[in-house]
Amino acid sequence: METNSRKKSAGPILPGAVIGVLGSGQLGRMFTIAARRMGYRVHTFSPETDTPTGQVADVEIKAHYDDLNAVRGFASAVDVVTFEFENVPSATAQAAAECAPVRPDGAILHTTQHRLREKTFLAQHGFPVTPFKAINTVEELRAAVAEFGFPCVLKTAGFGYDGKGQAKLTSAEQAETALQAVGHQEMVLEAFVEFSCELSVIGARGVDGSFAHWGVIRNDHRNHILDVSFAPPNLPPEVVQEAVDIARAVLETLGVVGVLCVEFFLTTSGKLLINELAPRPHNSGHLTFDACVTSQFEQQLRAVCGLPLGATAYLRPAAMANLLGDLWQAGEPDWAAACAFPEVKLHLYGKMTPKPGRKMGHLTALADTADQAARLVQDARAALQRTALPTAG
Ligand code: AMP
Repeated sequence: METNSRKKSAGPILPGAVIGVLGSGQLGRMFTIAARRMGYRVHTFSPETDTPTGQVADVEIKAHYDDLNAVRGFASAVDVVTFEFENVPSATAQAAAECAPVRPDGAILHTTQHRLREKTFLAQHGFPVTPFKAINTVEELRAAVAEFGFPCVLKTAGFGYDGKGQAKLTSAEQAETALQAVGHQEMVLEAFVEFSCELSVIGARGVDGSFAHWGVIRNDHRNHILDVSFAPPNLPPEVVQEAVDIARAVLETLGVVGVLCVEFFLTTSGKLLINELAPRPHNSGHLTFDACVTSQFEQQLRAVCGLPLGATAYLRPAAMANLLGDLWQAGEPDWAAACAFPEVKLHLYGKMTPKPGRKMGHLTALADTADQAARLVQDARAALQRTALPTAG
């Protein structure tokens, strides 16, 4: 039921309209840049101010996600609501949906923000997932450990990302100590996957069911956080096709309108297993901003506005390297040194406080091959630190 004060039309939401973004991080910032380029206005909603999204949006609303009156006020002033942060409570998405279309649907967030719900959904629909068990008691943990053996990975069921809330277990003693440490939280135990690489497929699905993707992007992690991504991935075409087919089926089964990333492990025996889903643009897709005809952010905009999806072709092979807060340890990185690489693009998210592990920005490089681009982007990142400048003050 849409009881909003703005007049909502049945057709596409056209430039000049207002898009509401729940969340205010770098994903919202890049979405907002894409939306403003096409003449839309953007309102962002989160519990903070001077945020990466708020700095480039038309309106920044500061309120808690459980302030449902504030959520309704926000949604009433926009033509469509989307997300850049999936850990928004279900009640927030429902309150927004009383006032404007919410895309993707709040039910999709509800499934994907909780590892156990997500994995159960995927397994029930026949998708290949990392073997897992729900863990509520020490007895369940012992039984699951006996089945999977060591090593295995214990993860919190809710609110985990970038390796937060997870531990690799190598002994029964360690397993029980880890469970005690988290108290009565619901957990998931996963078999440890011996993988040859990690991959992602970012898919977009329009209001009319049309589908677009950027092929397979290959991802290297460091300390559980994405470090470098590159595309095309130098993998057999049948692996690429299978990953894209799985991703498409996931978007269709969930009924996504918007963008969703499927993260995979490619096991050493050549099998694709889904690690997790993210119902929004993804860090591994940041390279599409500079490397593709249509970026993941513009595609999210087109999808949620009911516009035709754009072409996803790569202009050139590309790579992306994350810039974490750790880079600031020796002082302000030397930005001019990275800009001295003419085919490297600098993206900074406007975050004031660098902290270890915090995503502050990224570099993208374009080159003749993905390998060259990956080398280039890492050389440029290394140059940032060689001549780091002492931080002012
Ligand atoms: P996640 O937060 O679940 O995406 O995990 C972050 C990273 O930890 C993944 O990208 C992998 O590099 C590693 N990881 C997570 N789960 C497993 C697993 N079951 N087996 C092997 N490595 C894993």
